[in-house]
Amino acid sequence: MEEITNTNNALLEIEDLHIHFVSKVETVKAINGLNLVVHKGKTLGLVGETGAGKTTTALAILNMIAKPQGRIVAGRITLDGEDIFSKTEDQMEGIRGNTVSMIFQDPMTSLNPVMTVGDQIAEVLQIHKKLSKTAAAKEAQKMLETVGIPGARSVEYPHQFSGGMKQRVLIALGLACTPKLLIADEPTTALDVTIQAQVLELMKDLKDQMNMSMLMITHDLGIVAEVCDEVAVMYAGAIVESGTLEDIFDRKRHPYTEGLFNSLPDVNNRTQSLKPIGGQMPNPADLPQGCSFHPRCEYAMPKCSQEEPPTHRFSETHCAKCWLYENTDQCMLASQDYVPSQGVSE
Ligand code: SF4
Repeated sequence: MEEITNTNNALLEIEDLHIHFVSKVETVKAINGLNLVVHKGKTLGLVGETGAGKTTTALAILNMIAKPQGRIVAGRITLDGEDIFSKTEDQMEGIRGNTVSMIFQDPMTSLNPVMTVGDQIAEVLQIHKKLSKTAAAKEAQKMLETVGIPGARSVEYPHQFSGGMKQRVLIALGLACTPKLLIADEPTTALDVTIQAQVLELMKDLKDQMNMSMLMITHDLGIVAEVCDEVAVMYAGAIVESGTLEDIFDRKRHPYTEGLFNSLPDVNNRTQSLKPIGGQMPNPADLPQGCSFHPRCEYAMPKCSQEEPPTHRFSETHCAKCWLYENTDQCMLASQDYVPSQGVSE
């Protein structure tokens, strides 16, 4: 299958990934032919509704799909030139933290409540950078200062920090070993809007300072507009459209992408009512034949419920997986150019 963005200067490449979760009663097809590229020094926004497979994708990059139920049925993930699925658990321990690390969405459950925040960061540094206890403690204080927390607070416990400060601690933990790729899974969901803006700004600055790449997993197109260079729109375990920020915001081509934008308030037209996408994400244990979006798609044609659509490339950076473009590059959507101001409704 054709790769969905160009792979020059790629740090992370996911090729035709299929992941199933198998139980006695059903097979959940969580990831279905996913192609994705994160370029060096860039931030890719992975966007979609809850249940699209975004977090499963992140766990696959870390080679943390729970076995034996979770099965990599097909596909390949290459991170910084390394084939992730060929690694032993010991090798993966080295890659996690050093090459890739992840910030989870809920700081309340991601921090150890009975360890000081300084000790939690120092522990990561001792394991991954082999620093001595004293050097790791000093470095942990520096990391806290990098994220705007006084180093002296390293002796405090998570419950002594506010929600926004806890999220900063998680960022410090994620960045402690200066990974090449930072995966941030809805990192500001638990925060109020003002703190969210500060934390996003901080992540953007640190990403630039450390020359990292970032995979920003979110359902919020406002966050994408603020921090991302490139965007991949995910539906039912596959990427349905990808491109630069401008490709997706100004030249969107896929009906699902259009639906996400239509479900946002339009700041230029306050009288227009929101138009959420009708229906539900399909049950991954019972995916529809053909295009998995066809039961919800206003543009569906007979072919859409029979055959999986091909990926159509509009430019070097912009692709969409849809039958509408079988014979044309022209935009077939009814609406364009929404300016997002808030999150996508879930
Ligand atoms: Fe809609 Fe058909 Fe395109 Fe799927 S392939 S998004 S059903 S037009």
